[in-house]
Amino acid sequence: MPSIAVLGGGISGLAAAWFLKQRGAEVTIFEKGTPGGAIRTKVKKSLVLDLGPNSLRDKSGELLQLIFELGLKEELLVIEKAFKTRSIVRNGKMQFLKPSLASFLSTDLLSLKAKLRVFTEPFQPSGTEKEESIGSFLRRRVGKEAVNYLADPILSGIYAGDIEKLCKTEILPELTRYESDYKSLIIGMLFKNKTKNYSQKETVFNFRNGMQTLPNCLAEKLSSELIHTKVTCIKFMNNHIKVTTEDDDYSFDQVLSCLPAHVLSSLIFEYAPDLSNHLEKIHYPAVLSTCVTYSNKDIPNNTDAFGFLVPRIEGFDLLGAIWKSSIFPSHTPEGQKQFTLLAGGVHKAIKKSEIAKTQNKIIKEFSSIMNINADPIDIDHLYWEKAIPQQNLGYWKIRSAVSNFMKIHKNFTIGGNYLWGVSIPDCIKQAKLTAQQLF
Ligand SMILES: Cc1cc2nc3c(=O)[nH]c(=O)nc-3n(C[C@H](O)[C@H](O)[C@H](O)COP(=O)(O)OP(=O)(O)OC[C@H]3O[C@@H](n4cnc5c(N)ncnc54)[C@H](O)[C@@H]3O)c2cc1C
Repeated sequence: MPSIAVLGGGISGLAAAWFLKQRGAEVTIFEKGTPGGAIRTKVKKSLVLDLGPNSLRDKSGELLQLIFELGLKEELLVIEKAFKTRSIVRNGKMQFLKPSLASFLSTDLLSLKAKLRVFTEPFQPSGTEKEESIGSFLRRRVGKEAVNYLADPILSGIYAGDIEKLCKTEILPELTRYESDYKSLIIGMLFKNKTKNYSQKETVFNFRNGMQTLPNCLAEKLSSELIHTKVTCIKFMNNHIKVTTEDDDYSFDQVLSCLPAHVLSSLIFEYAPDLSNHLEKIHYPAVLSTCVTYSNKDIPNNTDAFGFLVPRIEGFDLLGAIWKSSIFPSHTPEGQKQFTLLAGGVHKAIKKSEIAKTQNKIIKEFSSIMNINADPIDIDHLYWEKAIPQQNLGYWKIRSAVSNFMKIHKNFTIGGNYLWGVSIPDCIKQAKLTAQQLF
C-alpha cells in the first residue's frame, strides 16, 4: 500500500483521508489550524452558532451514508419543511417564494412582464458562445428582471460572487447542458424531474452541536493520522515526494493537496511557475458572517422560512440572512431567535478594519427588512478573509494547467473546493472519487 500525504485538513482533506484509510492506504494529514477549515461552530451555553456553513444539502444520499458510517445518525438535525420557503427582498420588503408554479405566479417579486418573459424561455434561441458568464447566459434565457431578482441573489448568496464573471459551465453545468440538449432550461428541468429517482429525497441538515460535528468526528477518527503543523515546502525526489513542515521532514509515495489555491501556489512555484501564477490569481473575496440573537418578543415577523436574500440592485451591504431558529430550532434557547447575517463578497470588499462598521450597518439593514425595533441580545462574528474561490470566466485555463501538472507529476494530485466545487457535499463526493483513483 502506498504512503500518502494529504495536505490540508479542511473537509476535502479529512474526507479524502478517511476514504483512503478505508481502502487501507497509509495516510498522514497535515493541518496547520483547526481541522474542518471553513466549517466553524461556536457553542455558548445553549446557543449553537455556525459561523461558516449553516447547513448541508444531500441530493443523492451519499453524504448521509458517510454520516451513518461515522456513527453520527443520532446527531442529525433534518430540516422538515422551512427550507422550501425562501424570500427575496424587493424595494426593501421580503417577497416569499415556494418552489411551485402557483407561488411563482402569485409572488410580487417579479412584474407580470418578467413572469411572461420567463415563460418564453423554451422559445429563446440557444447561445453560441462556449465561454459565457452566468449573468449573460440567464439573461438570454429568462430575461433581465428574473436575473436581477432571482439568479443574482441566489448565486451571490452561495458564491458571494459576481454573476457577470462567474462561468456558466463551472457553476451551472446542468443548466448549460439543458440548453445544448433540450434547447431549453425549463424543458430540461421538467425532463429531469420526470426521470428523477424519488427514493432519493433531497435532505437538508445540520447536527445537534452544529456543523463542526462532522469535521470534528473525522478528525477524531483520524487522530493517529493527523499532524497539527504547517506545510512549508514540497520537493519532488526520484520516486517520492518530500514534505517539509515547521517541525520536521517526511517522505511519501504520493501527495494529495487539499490546500487553498493561494497556499499551494507558493509551494509549487519552483516546479510550475505557470500553474503557480494561475492558482495565486484565483480570487477568494472576504465574507463576514454575523450571528445575532434576539428575544422572541422583539421579532414581529413570522420566521417560518429558510431566510431571505438581497439582490445587489437593492443597494444593501447585507447579502442575506438565514433564519437559524426556523430551520434548526434546538440551536437557540427557548424564548430567543437566532439569525445568521452574511455580508461581503465580490461586490462589497470588507477590510478587517471595517468589521465593526459593516456589522452595525448590516444589523440596521436587517432590522429594517424584518421590522425589528430592538437590539440583539447576543452578537458574534467570524471574518473570513479569503472565503470562497471564484470560478470566473477563463477557469478552463486553471483546470488545464492543473491537469498538465498532474500528468508530469503523476504522484501529486490536486483537489479542494476550488476544483471539486464549493459545497461541502461536492467536496466530499470528489474526495471519495479521488481516493478511489489514487492507487
Ligand atoms: C461563510 C461561509 C459559508 C458557507 N456556507 C456553506 C453552506 O451553507 N453549505 C455548504 O455546503 N458549503 C458552504 N460553504 C463552503 C464550504 O464550507 C467550503 O467550500 C468547504 O468547507 C471547503 O473545504 P476545503 O477543505 O476544500 O477547504 P478549506 O476548508 O479551506 O480547508 C483547507 C485547509 O488547509 C489548511 N491549510 C492552509 N495552509 C496550510 C499549510 N501550509 N499547511 C497545512 N494546512 C494548511 C487550512 O487551515 C484549512 O483547514 C461556506 C463557506 C463559507 C466561508
